[in-house]
Amino acid sequence: MVASLSYVHVTPDSPWGTYIAQVDRVIPYLGALGRWAETLKRPKRSLIVDIPIEMDDGSIRHFEGFRVQHSLTRGPGKGGVRYHPDVTLEEVMALSAWMSIKNAAVNLPYGGAKGGIRVDPRQLSLKELEKLTRRYTSEIGIIIGPHQDIPAPDVNTNSQIMAWMMDTYSMNVGATATGVVTGKPVHLGGSLGRVKATGRGVFVTGCEAAKRIGLAVPGARVAVQGLGNVGSAAAELFAQAGAHIVAVQDHTGTIARASGLDLSALLAHVRATGGVGGFKEAEALDPESFWDVACDILIPAALEGQLTPSRAQRIKARLVLEGANGPTLPSGDDVLKDRNILVVPDVICNAGGVTVSYFEWVQDFSSFFWTEDEINQRLDKIMVHALSHIWDTADRHRISLRTATFAVACERILSARADRGLYP
Ligand code: GLU
Repeated sequence: MVASLSYVHVTPDSPWGTYIAQVDRVIPYLGALGRWAETLKRPKRSLIVDIPIEMDDGSIRHFEGFRVQHSLTRGPGKGGVRYHPDVTLEEVMALSAWMSIKNAAVNLPYGGAKGGIRVDPRQLSLKELEKLTRRYTSEIGIIIGPHQDIPAPDVNTNSQIMAWMMDTYSMNVGATATGVVTGKPVHLGGSLGRVKATGRGVFVTGCEAAKRIGLAVPGARVAVQGLGNVGSAAAELFAQAGAHIVAVQDHTGTIARASGLDLSALLAHVRATGGVGGFKEAEALDPESFWDVACDILIPAALEGQLTPSRAQRIKARLVLEGANGPTLPSGDDVLKDRNILVVPDVICNAGGVTVSYFEWVQDFSSFFWTEDEINQRLDKIMVHALSHIWDTADRHRISLRTATFAVACERILSARADRGLYP
């Protein structure tokens, strides 16, 4: 059931509607903790801010900014900040809730939070982007902090933006507070391995899942939607493992090559032109045909709501690895289940990013930094262990990996909730 909150418009297919449907599916497996389930259907705290900046041409423009702390039950808020023209409070609420589930699923000592600005960053100069970031950081400064809520990169944000956020927060508190954000440049308290961590987690969980369904990764055909930070790192690792990247879609185009794309040439093209569109050594497809491409593994690594029932009906893959947050609608999930297509859900599949964010935060507090090998080994171990626990839960209850991940995570969140009790 779609929980009604007076301050947002929710539909069954909107991000918060999707999240609520996912929670409803897990309630039967929560036993006595189900008493606390309503807690998951309400973000603890949502902050909406106005961000006025002076543009390069002297005009003043205002942007909408958000930071939502869905849950602080298991620790500080944690989750990225997204810059996108379609950002809404409702979307940020869902993204923050998925962070609560994800952080609990891999057992990080965090709640869940997310932020966003409704802006197309491609239309801003570097100076305007910096002003936007700094003013946003100042505005949400009343609720973030190394022990309160720790932002990180997400769609269209990166280590430079994290450096500006860290600097702005630090200027306001009068001390360098590296632990206030993660995903920083390595020379500013960032962690080795953070940039590729989300894609690495997709690869590691993908290989585990492939093994379990008897799908060989060498020679497997992989289709990737979104060649940003997550999609590109995952594609590189799959290609290194001998898989063929047969199709890629992004906001500039859809390209395919049945024998496999030359990924390093493609990534060079993307760096030079900003997208996959116009890449010569591939066939250009119309966007909807992406979902018909012959492949074994599909990696949606872009935005929410992509796998609708009709697309889920058409895809050829045996395995879907959700690099993006919220790419599958609940009605799409049902189709995939009927078709016996395995989905490794976002809330475990893309948890590698926040896991290395956690390592970064720990390293910042101890001012002692680990090698990239140490980071990757610890990351792989956490991801494999978390997925195996989820898999056992799914087998025990005969439920999907998504519902099993929610079961593991909600059990952790709600037992913490019950033990803490209600104040006052
Ligand atoms: N934005 C990433 C995510 O959706 C990472 C968040 C973080 O590192 O805090 O999981």
